[in-house]
Amino acid sequence: MSALAGWARELLRCPACHAELADAQAGTRLRCTGCGLVYPVRDGVPVLLVDEAADGD
Ligand SMILES: [Zn+2]
Repeated sequence: MSALAGWARELLRCPACHAELADAQAGTRLRCTGCGLVYPVRDGVPVLLVDEAADGD
């Protein structure tokens, strides 16, 4: 179960390409559905910084 509420998720967009984000790694990451960058979630707070993102699979 994700720690992020649905309303919050809808507001979250990839800062690189503005695509929607999806849960990854049991909610500890957010993966961009567009460019595939993976953003960390720290203490339940998504860190939507391209500098913090990792390349996805
Ligand atoms: Zn993206």
